[in-house]
Amino acid sequence: MADHIQLIGIKKLYAGEHVETAALHEIHRTFRRDEFTAIIGSSGSGKSTLLSLVGTLDQPSSGRVLYGDLDTSKLNANQLADFRFERIGLVFQHFHLLPALTAIENVMSPFFGRRRRALDHRAKAKRLLDRLGLAGKYHSLPSQLSGGEQQRVAIARALVNDPDWLLADEPTGNLDSRNAELFYELLQELKRELGCGIILVTHDLQLARKADRIIEIKDGLIVGDSSQVTDESLC
Ligand code: ADP
Ligand code: MG
Repeated sequence: MADHIQLIGIKKLYAGEHVETAALHEIHRTFRRDEFTAIIGSSGSGKSTLLSLVGTLDQPSSGRVLYGDLDTSKLNANQLADFRFERIGLVFQHFHLLPALTAIENVMSPFFGRRRRALDHRAKAKRLLDRLGLAGKYHSLPSQLSGGEQQRVAIARALVNDPDWLLADEPTGNLDSRNAELFYELLQELKRELGCGIILVTHDLQLARKADRIIEIKDGLIVGDSSQVTDESLC
């Protein structure tokens, strides 16, 4: 199990019609699984780009992403899909639930097309939905659930394979501040219970302040990291 994710000189350029956009400049950073890390920054600063590279959903233009000793740049597309399935849970702002599937089917959906006994993952999906306060909603469609409930289904889906890391991109963006706080507390509890590393992208500074570590990104560069020794702390 990888206790660290290491970013080694990752850059991301997006090709435009006439010019290339440098969404991320050379980033070197290590994330620890025992930390709850928040990534903050204004819109367009590169947060989603960074998270999608960490989550191996996209490849850097240069540089490497290592999970422990495993260099993900050495994996082909199929190996990467298996790797994500086994190690990473992803939660997005707009949930990305499948509208025609019920809550429990959505939670089980990562297993569709994969060999593993159906009973195992149905029981696991039920346990997670129960844990997240959705025991009576197994058979509800996403359209029959509130925003907060849909969000919890999305978390259950992200956790159904016991990932080492949970990566979440502005998951509280559609929740009011009270629900955002409850959601955050839930993530902290899940982290304690399941031992997964959490990297949370948020523009909500109030929430980010509760994390073990805050990384600030601006114009594709890391401009702040609470776990780094700063000039002020040396004074
Ligand atoms: P954030 O999540 O912090 O709002 P993003 O990572 O989405 O920022 O975007 C960072 C920069 O990269 C922005 O300038 C954005 O316009 C650009 N960008 C993001 N995705 C693409 C893409 N698929 N094609 C071209 N440019 C993109
Ligand atoms: Mg974003």
